[in-house]
Amino acid sequence: MWRVGTVIALHDETATARTITLEVSDWPGHVAGQHVDVRLTASDGYSAVRSYSIASAPNSEGRVELTVERLPGGEVSPYLTQEIAVGDRLELRGPIGGWFVWRTQQPEPIQLMAGGSGIVPLMAMIRSRVLAGSTAPFRVLYSVREPEAVFYREELQALSDQDHSLGLTYAYTRVTPKNWPRPPSRIDAALIANTTWPSKLVPTCYVCGPTSFVESASRLLTASGYDPDKIRTERFGPTGERQ
Ligand SMILES: Cc1cc2nc3c(=O)[nH]c(=O)nc-3n(C[C@H](O)[C@H](O)[C@H](O)COP(=O)(O)OP(=O)(O)OC[C@H]3O[C@@H](n4cnc5c(N)ncnc54)[C@H](O)[C@@H]3O)c2cc1C
Repeated sequence: MWRVGTVIALHDETATARTITLEVSDWPGHVAGQHVDVRLTASDGYSAVRSYSIASAPNSEGRVELTVERLPGGEVSPYLTQEIAVGDRLELRGPIGGWFVWRTQQPEPIQLMAGGSGIVPLMAMIRSRVLAGSTAPFRVLYSVREPEAVFYREELQALSDQDHSLGLTYAYTRVTPKNWPRPPSRIDAALIANTTWPSKLVPTCYVCGPTSFVESASRLLTASGYDPDKIRTERFGPTGERQ
């Protein structure tokens, strides 16, 4: 079933990513980690559908936030990050997904691992945890090209400063801030060992990002003793390729 959302706010997260806040009057509610399909239809009837994770925590106001990273030459993301305006209407279907979700009743330690825009559904989990007053201990390992590419930077920093049960680690792959202790590099076994929950605590892990990131992060977690059944993954490949 397609619903119509009205754009009520736009916010640039980075030079290439934008958060779109939609008001959807018949929104049935969602769980952190779910996504929607967005459909754009041209005047000649041609339409394109892409999936976008929900960034906002569940709320009773029918508000849905999406954060979209612009892919050069893409069909849909340039429109959503450059052309859409407040007051525009957008067709969406969802919420979708029942596995890659975090429910506020889950008490166990949670390990979140994001590659680039893979932070979006994990941010919904973090926001949902705050809103519900959950004390489930969370750790976030966020792999990102450079400091300027970090989404939700101030909010993440404020949350982790206020709450020591929310641990936040960045892994910069191309450019680091000045005097950063780790040279630019991908997530590796040493970083996993030093910054994620020890496997003996049996955390549930949520790994999200491009397919190659998800595969290598899952392999590293398994190699460091994590139970593969406790690793939930979401791949941000082109829509249609997702398993
Ligand atoms: C469940 C799910 C949730 C997603 N959530 C988000 C989200 O929260 N934010 C977000 O920005 N994106 C998200 N995506 C990716 C999104 O659906 C689109 O794939 C992306 O916006 C590109 O669409 P496009 O029409 O601009 O590019 P297209 O016209 O589809 O593709 C342009 C070119 O880029 C390649 N390409 C397409 N998608 C990707 C990709 N994700 N990574 C690398 N190359 C790609 C294509 O093969 C093609 O060569 C999600 C995908 C899935 C499956």
